[in-house]
Amino acid sequence: MDEQLLETGRAELRRHKDTYHLDFSIADLAPTLCTLASVPLPSSCCATPIACVVDQASHLMGGVGKAEKLLVFCPDAIGEHQRQLYPEQLARVKRLAGFEIKSAGVMPSVTPVCFGSIFSGASPEVHGIKEYARPILTIETVFDTFPEAGRKACIISRDQCSMDMIFRRRNVDYLAFNSDERAFRATELAMELGDYDLIVSYMMDYDELAHHTGIDSPDAAAQVALASDRFERLCALADSLWKARNRVVVYAPDHGQHAIDDHHGGHGMNLPEDMIVNHYYRVCGKNSQIDN
Ligand SMILES: [Zn+2]
Repeated sequence: MDEQLLETGRAELRRHKDTYHLDFSIADLAPTLCTLASVPLPSSCCATPIACVVDQASHLMGGVGKAEKLLVFCPDAIGEHQRQLYPEQLARVKRLAGFEIKSAGVMPSVTPVCFGSIFSGASPEVHGIKEYARPILTIETVFDTFPEAGRKACIISRDQCSMDMIFRRRNVDYLAFNSDERAFRATELAMELGDYDLIVSYMMDYDELAHHTGIDSPDAAAQVALASDRFERLCALADSLWKARNRVVVYAPDHGQHAIDDHHGGHGMNLPEDMIVNHYYRVCGKNSQIDN
């Protein structure tokens, strides 16, 4: 990878962090996952592993890079603004996880652009998705580096959504369904029956309902609660199924969403509501459990 392009990418991520006075970028997720699991970073990575998460993991796991099982739950559009709207629900996530990493997004703050950065560590200028479009990413992502390192991965999502489309043609399993409910059940089954080392599980419905009924409508609110319920369930399942493994469970949304009017939400702009998101990391050493 061209060093000058990487510097452009680092500057792009830094610009968004500076705008919102934040220390972290959503793109830090890719190098953090790789570092936790001793997998090489994607070659176009412009982001930085999150030191406090890596340090805590190495403390609990008896060394750097010893995470064996990783699960990333991705609820679309539940950002910092949603944390402010639904404090109890996101407090549940924080209690389970321990780490709440407030992070700057990338522009435009739409799903394929953001997940492109989250799972490659590259800025949009570097990964190439710079508008709402869903081409297959050609740069390296965690879905390249994990399989190359012999670690089995899968992406579980809604059929034909960004998560299902932009990371195709990798040596990972793609499980795509016509509802969040089915995708979530498949996630539980993949944990129980699969031998995956990295599972990424996507949830669409808060974003969908917030767009069409408002970011704080009863239907949208129910989805935020459901996302917390699902994260809680996945943490419990990880603790029981992967009890003897060093494990990491992450709650990682792509962007937030702002109110357009009482019945419509939107995102894609360089606004705090769209651009500031929290990534929650739960790191557990084998045969241990963090206190909740
Ligand atoms: Zn959306």
